[in-house]
Amino acid sequence: MEKKAVLSCIQPTGDMHLGNYFGAIKNWVDLQKDYRCMYGVVDYHAMTMPYDVDKLRLNTWELITNLMACGIETNNLFVQSLVPEHAELSWILNCYCSYGQLTRMTQFKDKSSQVGELGKDDFVSVGLLSYPVLQASDILIYRADYVPVGKDQEQHLELTRDIAQRFNNAVGKEFFVLPEALYTDTPKIRSTADPSRKMSKSAGEKHYISVFAESERIRKQIKSAVTDTGEVDKNQMSEGVHNLFELIKACGNLLAYDALLEDYNKGKLKYSDLKDVTASSVLELVKPFQERKLQINLNKKDIKDKVRSSSHEIRKVAQETLKEVKELVGLLNVKF
Ligand code: ADP
Repeated sequence: MEKKAVLSCIQPTGDMHLGNYFGAIKNWVDLQKDYRCMYGVVDYHAMTMPYDVDKLRLNTWELITNLMACGIETNNLFVQSLVPEHAELSWILNCYCSYGQLTRMTQFKDKSSQVGELGKDDFVSVGLLSYPVLQASDILIYRADYVPVGKDQEQHLELTRDIAQRFNNAVGKEFFVLPEALYTDTPKIRSTADPSRKMSKSAGEKHYISVFAESERIRKQIKSAVTDTGEVDKNQMSEGVHNLFELIKACGNLLAYDALLEDYNKGKLKYSDLKDVTASSVLELVKPFQERKLQINLNKKDIKDKVRSSSHEIRKVAQETLKEVKELVGLLNVKF
């Protein structure tokens, strides 16, 4: 039986941290066994918030290298702007999506209110408003069956299904596949510097641990992790301590996890031991990724050629879908 198609995308917005790895990338790597996977590095999306023009291209190649180092197969990767049909379909689908629905997107409300804080002015682009339509195009253009989503993306997937349904109703046939969410139990990793917030790039350097940072830096960040703050509630594990346990578990160091938990339950856990084990578990996890990255970087040209050709391959599917869409909506289909 043909494998079902999975599509997922990531923005090239800089470093890859442990939250990204455990919350998304590890799952992507695992899905490759059972599904036909297409993973997009979505550079058009990265333009929706204030960004550094000189860094975007560098970040795109850097992310591709990082994804490959973590175990994503090159054949499954593509770069969004190398498949311009995404943007073309997005225009067409803009006409099948209501303005009101876009303004009600939680992420639009959150991000548009952040713009003034992050950028020099309070410019909110139409790109930020219509980005879920581009996301719908990313998914629908490949007729993806499943999209691995976290809670934060559920609303966008629902919008994709609405757009697909509206389009199908308008053209009178089940043209687009209505994609389904693929829920997976991924841990939410918190900032070690402030466990009340999630690990994230946007909060600043001390709030994330990069998968590709030097060992010393990783060790230092974990050593200085916040464990208990102020009043200690004996019946409830603090968020900081819980986060370190989660990291050990996510790294797969289950024996150490059980032993430390036993110590914790007996009230004799030393936080220095917990931090040592967390640091060694994380370092053991990232070591092969870092080594692979060094190898990949020895052959940069080779990688660029491979990603260009996988984007070219996947583009054929996108071109086919767009050709049929143009036919259905009454646009000219002329070959020059
Ligand atoms: P950031 O918040 O650092 O900018 P992104 O929003 O680019 O990260 O997230 C990319 C992917 O990583 C998304 O799938 C997101 O759900 C996941 N992710 C980000 N931060 C975390 C975290 N702290 N824990 C688990 N998953 C996360």
